[in-house]
Amino acid sequence: MKVVRTRGECAQARAELGLGTTVGFVPTMGYLHEGHLSLVRRAKTECAAAVASIFVNPTQFGPTEDLSTYPRDLDGDLAVLEQAGCDVAWLPEVADIYPPGFSTFVDVEGVTAVLEGARRPGHFRGVATVVAILLNVVRPTRAYFGQKDAQQTVVLRRMIEDLALGVDMVVAPTVREPDGLAMSSRNSYLDPAQRAAAVVLHRALQATRTAYAGGERDADRLRTAMTEVIAGEPLAEPDYVSVADPDSLAELATIDPARGALLSLAVRFGRTRLIDNVVLPPSR
Ligand code: AMP
Repeated sequence: MKVVRTRGECAQARAELGLGTTVGFVPTMGYLHEGHLSLVRRAKTECAAAVASIFVNPTQFGPTEDLSTYPRDLDGDLAVLEQAGCDVAWLPEVADIYPPGFSTFVDVEGVTAVLEGARRPGHFRGVATVVAILLNVVRPTRAYFGQKDAQQTVVLRRMIEDLALGVDMVVAPTVREPDGLAMSSRNSYLDPAQRAAAVVLHRALQATRTAYAGGERDADRLRTAMTEVIAGEPLAEPDYVSVADPDSLAELATIDPARGALLSLAVRFGRTRLIDNVVLPPSR
């Protein structure tokens, strides 16, 4: 596995893979877990070469968020990337991505106004900007993202299409711990009691999915069902629960089974904020 740092080194490594080579790209912020590695392995299975980036992107963190404490383990990350079959690991510095004078940002409108975008102003501007830069340097055939960050996939799909970035987007399923908690680098912030309590996100989503499967179509009743499960966990403070259209992310009044829905939520445990979601697929 080749390890590169600057934009120029990464572009060079990409050129050495060959113009006609299919390249699968996995952007990450590091502290890698099975969720990330499932994307790398899939990229390697579906493409001739896999490239991963590790970059804790400052522009997607709000002023009161966890940029300075975000967990890091570069040596461990490089070892597991290599095991997963990654060909090129790109580890840029902040100044490689945002050199002096940097002043161009990507703002995706509409779908960024709700859910995470409403609670984390500027977050998706930072995400879209960095992903546009990463894609332009790596020039992958396919880019791999996790369903775990559902709104991010909607925002980036829009950007890739609107800006004609010419990359196929692949969204892979959320990888979970045995008890159902979605894997996340931020799970490392949880103390043992919070870690045990954090399974409530998955339980709330499952309860709501079961209610939907049982015929419930009223979105408010489904939101209430999610809220009630979270309320049963004293360490959990709900931020939002949502039953939204899977494409527009607009909150629904009633679920149309022909369109399905995205159930999502954000819950705080002390200073740690976790998100999760499930898709209710359209039924034919
Ligand atoms: P992050 O390092 O959190 O920015 O995540 C990098 C990529 O890994 C994003 O596309 C995430 O959606 C994806 N990812 C993070 N956690 C998971 C998970 N538990 N399952 C699947 N994909 C994930």
